[in-house]
Amino acid sequence: MADKIKTFLKKFKIWRSFKLRLLIIIFLMGIIPSIIMRLGILENYESRAVAVRISDVQTQLRIIANHLITYNYLQDTSSEVIGAELEQISNLYNGRVLIINGNLKVVKDTYGISEGKTIVSEEVIRCMKGKNTADYDSVNRFIEITIPIVETVSVPDDNGGEAREKEVVRGVMLTSVSTDTIVNTLDILNRQAIIMGNIMFIFIFALAICLARILVRPFERVTRAISEVKEGYTDEPISVSDYLETEHIVDAFNSLIKRMKTLDDSRQEFVANVSHELKTPITSIKVLADSLLAQEDVPAELYHEFMEDIAEEIERENKIINDLLALVKQDKSVAQLNISMVIINELVEIILKRLRPIAKKSNVEVTLISKREIVAEVDEVKMSLILTNLVENAIKYNKEQGKVEVLLDADHQFFTVRVRDSGIGIPQEALGQIYERFYRVDKSHSKEIGGTGLGLAITRSAVQLLRGSIKVESALGEGTAFTVKIPLTRTLV
Ligand code: ADP
Repeated sequence: MADKIKTFLKKFKIWRSFKLRLLIIIFLMGIIPSIIMRLGILENYESRAVAVRISDVQTQLRIIANHLITYNYLQDTSSEVIGAELEQISNLYNGRVLIINGNLKVVKDTYGISEGKTIVSEEVIRCMKGKNTADYDSVNRFIEITIPIVETVSVPDDNGGEAREKEVVRGVMLTSVSTDTIVNTLDILNRQAIIMGNIMFIFIFALAICLARILVRPFERVTRAISEVKEGYTDEPISVSDYLETEHIVDAFNSLIKRMKTLDDSRQEFVANVSHELKTPITSIKVLADSLLAQEDVPAELYHEFMEDIAEEIERENKIINDLLALVKQDKSVAQLNISMVIINELVEIILKRLRPIAKKSNVEVTLISKREIVAEVDEVKMSLILTNLVENAIKYNKEQGKVEVLLDADHQFFTVRVRDSGIGIPQEALGQIYERFYRVDKSHSKEIGGTGLGLAITRSAVQLLRGSIKVESALGEGTAFTVKIPLTRTLV
């Protein structure tokens, strides 16, 4: 049922407005206590006024009851003094007084209707036993009060001692007094309260509207500021510090914008780099081809030499394109990992076997140290890519007669591959940039070697896909060590 109401309310867009909800809450918080207070005060007034009236009448009746005994009124109702007193009280309270004697017979009725009749009501009987009663009938607007007419008599002590005083109930005064005056006052109060209530209703409603508008304003300012950024009026960080909440929203937005800008900048830089890198071999090809075309009767050897250079440039272009494709494919394929149990030691051996002939060319010795057997849940293709790139670099950027050492180790959570070479090393200031796309420490040297500057970018992104980390240590002229640390299982991290 509650869900149905919620879905029903959700259909009305206005109900989802924070301002409206705030308005309703402030309004209810203002109006409910005032209604409760109004009803409470009126209710309290009525019971207080009735209690005061009962106590007043009881006091008067007690005095008259004493007089009744003094004037022996229950036997002889001719006393004018009592008659006047009874008349006065019934006029004062707009009521009726009945005097009932010990035989439950009415000896006096100020209305003169019931004299001589017998009254056996529950209240009268109870009062005969010495108990006062007072009942308020709010519907018919009167209070019925009974007071016993008590005479104090002396009774001799049974044991022959001094006489004791004893109270004997001789009759009952049954009185009904009107509460019209109380009810009238209550009506007036009620009417005034309703007028006040209405004024308060309007006042609180207006206050709720103002407060809701003021309180929501900072959120509207946030929306406006965001729209301005969206529409391109400004690209400055926005600031709405009225509330901590708006500050948090704005901070989150600013960091999002900053991130988007960084991404945009790096994308632009990447595109610029790609164009530049792709253009370089083409320019060389064009220069070579043009110089061939410009000469007549080109000797066959020169022709052959130029064509070899052109083929080399095409090969380089091809390599850049392949690396780029690998990088782009990798960016997209987070979800397309092909995870399987791989014996890392075997994989490294296969890769080293493939790369040893290249190492041999530059007289570089490649050794493998396996500390233990490692079986890990990885994507085999990505893992080969990481190992190939690192070992290839270690060979490429090595010295004549240099050394490359691959060390495999593992603990119970991760396995590590360290590729250490005795090569040219990387300057400290370049260490932070080597993973950037197209970054090369020494452009000319790198070109000579055949690097595209994409290898380490590809390597790092593959390591990240395998939820691992990569770290580099290097000393210029002495060598470099790359350490890759990857979890043994996918569920671990
Ligand atoms: P490249 O295709 O040029 O090798 P990489 O991204 O693999 O591109 O490497 C970026 C740069 O980092 C290289 O140009 C090289 O200057 C430097 N570098 C990478 N590995 C090593 C290494 N083992 N020793 C020295 N320099 C290295």
